[in-house]
Amino acid sequence: MNKPLPFTFKQIREITRIHPTPFHLYDEKAIRENAHLLKATFAGIPGFKEFFAVKALPNPFILKILKEEGFGADCSSLPELLLAEKAGITGEEIMFSSNDTPAGEYQKARELGAIINLDDISHIEFLEQHAGLPDLVCCRYNPGNTRKGNFIIGQPAEAKYGFTREQLFEGYRLLKAKGVKRFGLHTMVASNELDYHYFVETADMLLTLAADISREVGIEFEFINMGGGIGIPYKPEQTAVPLSQIAEEIHDLYETRIVRGGLKPPRLYMECGRVITGPHGYLVSTVLHLKHIYKDYVGLDASMANLMRPALYGAYHHITVLGKENRPADHTYDVTGSLCENNDKFAIDRPLPAIDPGDIVVIHDTGAHGHAMGFNYNGKLRSAELLLRGNGEVIPIRRAETPEDYFATLDFEELAKFKP
Ligand SMILES: *Cc1c(COP(=O)(O)O)cnc(C)c1O
Repeated sequence: MNKPLPFTFKQIREITRIHPTPFHLYDEKAIRENAHLLKATFAGIPGFKEFFAVKALPNPFILKILKEEGFGADCSSLPELLLAEKAGITGEEIMFSSNDTPAGEYQKARELGAIINLDDISHIEFLEQHAGLPDLVCCRYNPGNTRKGNFIIGQPAEAKYGFTREQLFEGYRLLKAKGVKRFGLHTMVASNELDYHYFVETADMLLTLAADISREVGIEFEFINMGGGIGIPYKPEQTAVPLSQIAEEIHDLYETRIVRGGLKPPRLYMECGRVITGPHGYLVSTVLHLKHIYKDYVGLDASMANLMRPALYGAYHHITVLGKENRPADHTYDVTGSLCENNDKFAIDRPLPAIDPGDIVVIHDTGAHGHAMGFNYNGKLRSAELLLRGNGEVIPIRRAETPEDYFATLDFEELAKFKP
């Protein structure tokens, strides 16, 4: 089964003449169309806004594109806040959803005027002490055993995130007593979830809870934020989450849970990463070696340092061998990188057409949690990131790392002087 590509073999051959493999290539046109679609789909819901999860694709060029599409940024660390700022995203366009947060990060978030999403009841006083309490505060809910989790994120009751239900009531009471005037409510209970019901249930849970807290504590919620976690069809036989169905059913929930209860409808926020850019990134790599021992191996010039999901979660990423799309997949290969870890495999027992050294392979759906999860273990260097623009032009949006980057935190002059 084939998955479509937004470029031709010829185009990729031209690109690799200037930009050597491996690299991640992002499709700007598709990302923009996707952003439009999300906005259009949720347009009927009060104040819908998407805060792109920066951790999925922390490249300021991408953030700038998404800002232009009307998205905010969801950040959870100081460098992510700085990236958002560099891309021109500031103030309440930033949602700061962190956990185990250092004081300096709260200070930067306050300086930027970001919406602060507290992960724990003890952080109310921590924030007050270290950065002062803003007018607007959001709290993150962990529903514990009342909700089932999924594979990547685990069971809510086992998850380190958020307030318990009791702590939420107490927390909002405390915030109100301390003079906080504006409130939001957040949760994130799924990751890479393809069952759309899950998101409707999450919205239902938040709307019901917001109504309960409003009544009991005497506050109004400006927004509910249902987190990210919408999955994408990594496998060719999977189908995308029906966003319009989610939007329709959440719209009905607003009627039953909020409007009929006489409450002011809170805005609906989301902080998805994967579903926005995931399907529109491609890791392009060249086959270096074929190896035939007990199994047949294809060795690429990319490794799990460029895409960790298969090694980390056993995740499926579709692979296309360029120029061989129409040949029968009558060979079975493990597709590997060069890292000295046996789980450095992009695919195990994958049926593919016969492969030769020099073939260019495209690994699909690397636009989220791909390059971003890169690391330097084993002296592996992170690849370049390229942007395929609407007019077919390709521009580098991050160069590849060099050994000098890898050594940047070492001082070789000190080393020369060092006597062990
Ligand atoms: C990772 C994360 C997201 C984005 O998750 P996706 O699966 O990419 O949609 C959003 N919010 C928080 C708090 C996260 O940790």
